[in-house]
Amino acid sequence: MDIQVIKTQHSRVGETDFENLGFGEVFSDHMFSMEYKNNEWASPQIIPYGKIGIFPSLCSLHYGQVVFEGLKAFNTKKGIHVFRPEKYHERLNKSCHRLCIPEIEYGAFIEGLTELLKLDRKWVSGKKGNSLYIRPFIFATDNFLGVKISKTYRFMIITSPVGAYYAEGFNPIRLVTSGKYVRAAKGGLGAAKTPANYAASLLPAEEAKHNGFSQVLWLDGIEKKYIEESGAMNVFFFMDDELVTPSLESCILEGVTRNTVIHLARESGVRVQERRISIDEILSASKEGRLKEVFGTGTAAVISPVGTIRHNDILISINGGKTGALARKLYDDITSIHYGDKENDNDFGWRHWIT
Ligand SMILES: *Cc1c(COP(=O)(O)O)cnc(C)c1O
Repeated sequence: MDIQVIKTQHSRVGETDFENLGFGEVFSDHMFSMEYKNNEWASPQIIPYGKIGIFPSLCSLHYGQVVFEGLKAFNTKKGIHVFRPEKYHERLNKSCHRLCIPEIEYGAFIEGLTELLKLDRKWVSGKKGNSLYIRPFIFATDNFLGVKISKTYRFMIITSPVGAYYAEGFNPIRLVTSGKYVRAAKGGLGAAKTPANYAASLLPAEEAKHNGFSQVLWLDGIEKKYIEESGAMNVFFFMDDELVTPSLESCILEGVTRNTVIHLARESGVRVQERRISIDEILSASKEGRLKEVFGTGTAAVISPVGTIRHNDILISINGGKTGALARKLYDDITSIHYGDKENDNDFGWRHWIT
């Protein structure tokens, strides 16, 4: 691939405070861009991060034909790596398929990303807990108000240095089910990483926050009985010495962190089941003292312990509202692969090194 590179005249890396990064507030010097027209992806470019010109009739603003991804790069003693890019790319294409967006070949995806990271390598801070969040996204670019599949698209990658998610400690969150709203229904967009799912979740999340909870624990859209996921995280329950998580037949987004957790838990001898889990099963397990831990998984936080769940009038406390040992172990195992802390560490081929 022949990437046209236009470098910035003024790097902002020196002005960036890597000690106090929030999430997604600062953007690196450059961005990758590629256009789809005449039935092919072409014109790959790396250009200074900045404004993009669009017309008000841009169809994706009106009808939401957009998909995105979120992955991370880490700076270790051995150099910079991207964690599991193949897996995120595979999901990007699955989302593309559901939204009628043309897929992108892995070669183009990884080459664009690699060249971008090489140019912006100073933005991948080596401070423990820091990483570079990578946001690839594709949006439809026809300027047309009829509802139809766009003929043109733009694929972009922007990157943002982020700090440790748990700046104030690894503290459990509070979840609440909703009797009023659903995130997705079978056959809908639940399994695609697309903005519409987030737009749908804003009001329910706002109401949950108003009532003192961090996020909504989504139940299935038909019976409101089976657990799906929470906010932008997949969920795991540790009960009867088994780790269980909703199977992919539900409407959940197939998290890469979910896959990493299943793999590492099995490696360390924990039995893992992917199956349907009803909220009643969780309430009974809690009542009978069989529910040991609950946690969420996602790229941003890695593992998010859950200390409280409310369903209707029932409030359950998990592990006394404290972070459990399994959540902590999985968090340590994953982050030690991210930061390459262990000597002779086995990374299962998950790290893609940027050389
Ligand atoms: C991105 C996302 C997740 C988590 O996926 P990871 O690949 O682990 O980051 C879970 N649920 C939703 C709805 C998401 O968009």
